[in-house]
Amino acid sequence: MGVSPEPAFYDHIRDLALSIPGCRNVHNVNAEQIGGQIRLGMHVEVGRGITIEEADAIADAVHDAICEAYDDIWVVVHADPERGDGATPAQAAAPS
Ligand SMILES: [Zn+2]
Repeated sequence: MGVSPEPAFYDHIRDLALSIPGCRNVHNVNAEQIGGQIRLGMHVEVGRGITIEEADAIADAVHDAICEAYDDIWVVVHADPERGDGATPAQAAAPS
């Protein structure tokens, strides 16, 4: 079992993801620190109706931006259609 990184880490991950064009929001951002390595899983929300290829390119760009920002990190990014359920971005992106 690892420990959860500090809240500033999640803020930074969110900022990195939202800096990628086409990434509308993030949710289910979960990370744990095991020794010196961080393992991160997250969902990025992309616009509805774009192609699978476009969604994959956005997820890849988020993945690469995070891998460039941290030396020892293992990242899985899942792309979701943008939520239209009325949740505010802040609620949708709450870490837990
Ligand atoms: Zn999701």
